[in-house]
Amino acid sequence: MSLDAKIPEGPLDQKWTLHKNTIDLVNPANKRHIDVIVVGTGLAGGAAAASLAEMGYNVSAFCYQDSPRRAHSIAAQGGINAAKNYQNDGDSVYRLFYDTIKGGDYRSREANVYRLAEVSANIIDQCVAQGVPFAREYGGLLDNRSFGGVLVSRTFYAKGQTGQQLLLGAYSAMSRQIAKGKIKMYNRHEMLDLVVVDGKARGIIARNLVTGEVSRHSAHAVVLASGGYGNVFFLSTNAMGSNVTAAWKAHKKGAYFANPCFTQIHPTCIPRSGDHQSKLTLMSESLRNDGRIWVPKKKEDAEAIREGRLKPTELAEEDRDYYLERRYPAFGNLVPRDVASRAAKERCDAGYGVNPTGEAVYLDFAAAIERYGNEKATVLGLDNPSKEEIRRMGEEVIESKYGNLFQMYEKIVDENPYKTPMMIYPAVHYTMGGIWVDYNLMTTIPGCYATGEANFSDHGANRLGASALMQGLADGYFVLPYTIGEYLADEIRTGPIPIDTAEFDEAENAVNERIAKLLTINGSKPVDYFHKRLGLVMWNEVGMSRNAEGLSRAMDEMNQIKEEFWSDVKVPGTADSFNQELEKAGRVADLIELGILMAKDALVREESCGGHFREESVETSGEQEGEAKRDDENFKFVSAWEWTGDSREAQLHKEDLVFENVELKQRSYK
Ligand SMILES: Cc1cc2nc3c(=O)[nH]c(=O)nc-3n(C[C@H](O)[C@H](O)[C@H](O)COP(=O)(O)OP(=O)(O)OC[C@H]3O[C@@H](n4cnc5c(N)ncnc54)[C@H](O)[C@@H]3O)c2cc1C
Repeated sequence: MSLDAKIPEGPLDQKWTLHKNTIDLVNPANKRHIDVIVVGTGLAGGAAAASLAEMGYNVSAFCYQDSPRRAHSIAAQGGINAAKNYQNDGDSVYRLFYDTIKGGDYRSREANVYRLAEVSANIIDQCVAQGVPFAREYGGLLDNRSFGGVLVSRTFYAKGQTGQQLLLGAYSAMSRQIAKGKIKMYNRHEMLDLVVVDGKARGIIARNLVTGEVSRHSAHAVVLASGGYGNVFFLSTNAMGSNVTAAWKAHKKGAYFANPCFTQIHPTCIPRSGDHQSKLTLMSESLRNDGRIWVPKKKEDAEAIREGRLKPTELAEEDRDYYLERRYPAFGNLVPRDVASRAAKERCDAGYGVNPTGEAVYLDFAAAIERYGNEKATVLGLDNPSKEEIRRMGEEVIESKYGNLFQMYEKIVDENPYKTPMMIYPAVHYTMGGIWVDYNLMTTIPGCYATGEANFSDHGANRLGASALMQGLADGYFVLPYTIGEYLADEIRTGPIPIDTAEFDEAENAVNERIAKLLTINGSKPVDYFHKRLGLVMWNEVGMSRNAEGLSRAMDEMNQIKEEFWSDVKVPGTADSFNQELEKAGRVADLIELGILMAKDALVREESCGGHFREESVETSGEQEGEAKRDDENFKFVSAWEWTGDSREAQLHKEDLVFENVELKQRSYK
């Protein structure tokens, strides 16, 4: 099948408007006869379900949590971008578009990204109207801060809980429709297969996670908003439940999987403390607004710190290497995440790491505390304030900005970050790859859509901070509700989709057989054993930097893990009960297959781009020496993989990316 991105004609800044003006609509009376399934009720799915129901469609929404309020979106801390130019610092739709295209290292579609920037301002208005308590300045206007990779302040935030507050907004919009009966909510239900009838997505098979009951659900269209797959690395900042199952099942039924190897590694996570951990904690990127990142200049000082003989606060200013400020003077500590992550790893690999395992750098607020303290003293007209007074006042300002993050750090690390610099290290955070979608957000299966982190569409090879929430809500509130009309307009005469058909029988039987198989293997190793092994291979060979040899080895190793899993996994309990090991087993089985595809995708992409660093592709001279080397001539495409029965044999389709409005430049943050 050839890929048609269905990008509308016309100038970039008019494509979306023209498309909306000409797209097919469904008349309100007919919407009542159309059913839509939305899998996932995070920001993308919650916003989509609420909007579609508000428009009049009958929506069935599914999530595996006990409430949509607990979707992984709740974890987002830092903020959400929008081109409102409140700071009067020169921001515009074009600049947000440009930053996002450039930040993604020119591996995303111009038209999608421009639309994202265009609707970004509406998202803020929508959320304010819902009562989302964005931070405000003294005068009452919404406040902004900046995130990595940009030179303006366009990130709206609600302290360190932006995702949670936005999710509550979407949830309240959903609740209104649940109460009206327009959304039928299936909490604690996991989609385990997609049902395709005559080439169109017509429903799903879901398992009730409490009773184990497997059920059929039909609709005229299915929207997948099931989030990202960072947990393929076992250790990540993702919620423990995040997984690829819904997307993977759709992939196996014909949805191409795009750019699977594009994973974002976030630079500011709390370093792992040992092998016992199952999750890593993120410290929001917003901290890089005020924190300065450094390691000791001398290896002997780093060693003394690692061994506890020297405290970071005892190290003189001239003995510290503020390596981001040194290497990237224009962006300093606010370089994009991939650049900051690689630079941290480079320093740690070179022996300058500061925690016992040598896998940490410092994020230091001392200078900001002093700066804010002095500012406050001036405002209050204090003459000769003492150092302690300045410090106290500065700490108060920092607390008002990032208090909950500091508290979280102290609880986990047992060190007071106001007094001693935080330790941070990169960790897997976000997956830019996902199900391939066209401009209308439709997958390669007619009637099957994908939104939010589950699709691949807007972030290219690297996601800038605060752009995932923006994309999830843009898709859910402002894009899908229009574009789905084009497909559904042809469905008004279809009538209800029956569930007693051969296609539903087949899908349900396959789900039941797989569950039975998982429970009967009765091997010797728990699911986590395989997940950990998978994660280690992924981190070592398909993580921050990769090479051809390692990637080939990784594919073999993961295939071995897959074979052992299916012959030696032990899943206790039964199918007709609440059984979290069974849930996990199904998810890990899918993650293993996905891992193989990720390695395959990374192997094909013989360039470094965005967060994807290929060791064979490095700038060897000039101002960019040592930086990632992109190869536009050969790799300016989206890789979209078709399932052929085995991830190792997946077939590659290329969507060439056409840039008519931006010039592809070397990404430089110097
Ligand atoms: C710690 C952390 C901090 C972050 N901070 C920011 C930030 O400051 N700014 C920003 O822009 N982004 C941030 N992100 C990224 C952002 O939070 C996510 O990309 C975004 O919330 C994803 O939203 P989503 O709706 O696509 O998916 P999710 O919120 O992950 O929702 C997935 C939904 O799908 C459901 N689901 C999944 N599989 C199935 C299935 N098989 N059957 C039924 N239901 C299923 C789940 O129950 C859930 O409802 C952060 C991420 C993390 C991990």
